[in-house]
Amino acid sequence: MTTTPVDAAAQDTGALDLAARAAALDAADPLAEHAAAFVRDDHVVSYLDGNSLGRPLAALEERFARFIAHDWGSRLIRSWDEGWMRRPFDLGDRIGALVGAGAGQAFVGDSTTVLLYKLVRAAADAQAATGRTEVVIDDDSFPTDRFVVEGVAAERGLEVRWIEVDRSAGVTLEQVEAVVGERTALLLLSHVAYRSGHVADVEGITRAAHDAGALVLWDLCHSAGVIPTELDAWGVDLAAGCTYKYLNGGPGSPAFAYVRDELQSRLSQPIQGWMGAADVFAMGPRFEPAPDLRRFASGTPPVLATVALEAMVELLEQVGVDAVREKSIALTDFAEEALATHVLPLGARLASPPAGPSRGSHLTVTHPAFREVTERLWARGVIPDFRGPDGIRVGLSPLSTTFAEVEAGVAAIGEELRAALA
Ligand SMILES: *Cc1c(COP(=O)(O)O)cnc(C)c1O
Repeated sequence: MTTTPVDAAAQDTGALDLAARAAALDAADPLAEHAAAFVRDDHVVSYLDGNSLGRPLAALEERFARFIAHDWGSRLIRSWDEGWMRRPFDLGDRIGALVGAGAGQAFVGDSTTVLLYKLVRAAADAQAATGRTEVVIDDDSFPTDRFVVEGVAAERGLEVRWIEVDRSAGVTLEQVEAVVGERTALLLLSHVAYRSGHVADVEGITRAAHDAGALVLWDLCHSAGVIPTELDAWGVDLAAGCTYKYLNGGPGSPAFAYVRDELQSRLSQPIQGWMGAADVFAMGPRFEPAPDLRRFASGTPPVLATVALEAMVELLEQVGVDAVREKSIALTDFAEEALATHVLPLGARLASPPAGPSRGSHLTVTHPAFREVTERLWARGVIPDFRGPDGIRVGLSPLSTTFAEVEAGVAAIGEELRAALA
């Protein structure tokens, strides 16, 4: 890659403009104050992976201390009656409200993988009675989603129908319409594609699936807390999502699941445990499922792992997802501009949808040298993530990411790519 002095000068001007623009955008940002509410470390120059693991809120030290001293240390098992038993469902209602779900349809517990397994099995079994034996998923879904579907298909004698998607985009309504039919039991699709950041047409695709008599399970891992979502209004049947991404619940914090009201009594999930029983403390001889959402729970909920999540849910309730989305769009558009200035001229390619409603809160940019570039970036405190074979993901977590951080991080990607190519 050769750069003429004229090109280099033009790029420098662009870079100066960008740094000044980033400062101005931060100064005018109505959500700017919240960035300081997260733990920040001088060694982290630019954190661009909030879509994989959100930063911790600084207030957590105090929250954990209070939890240990009071809820756990002093109240001990009395806390189960004083809130812990209800906690997965109370938090579920609050996360539900952030994704457009009325109360009593969402709960927190298990990992996303386990919740997907429970819901895929439950939906497939309910549909088996009507002779529907196919599960539809796209071939670039997050690995765990594909693996769960393959596993359930093998277990229950179902067929997997793969939709082949463009990795720089995502699943379209037309593709779904072409594949669903009288044999379709369930579709499992992601609201936001983990690789490209493509936002699917949840409402249109759900309607198309329903017209064909199928159920739909949406994976909200990359949308919950950052993309306005209307599960009830869009007629969604089932959903599950992570809480450690844009919900900042911390590494391995439990996932949430949504089961539409009228489906709850019709579906049975495969991991029967005492916490899903009609009467938890009856200690009866046979399993009798709870009539409502509680039947989707299995064992003792991971209460400790919900402390950080609750703090972030509070902040999101205060700010509102619409405002978060507005900043997400501004950050993502700015990141695209910064990439066009610093990185794309070096031969990298943007592998995400164009600006607009079908673009989520992260961008993927590809170049064969990016595995090596990512290592160099991490060493200097610039932290995007690498997704094989050749993608760097630039994730923008609106409440904790500043425009200046985006500019510094993307400029560093350009510097390290230039060094790798030298
Ligand atoms: C992050 C992510 C997961 C992770 O599942 P875990 O069980 O929490 O490891 C699953 N699906 C998608 C789409 C994701 O982005």
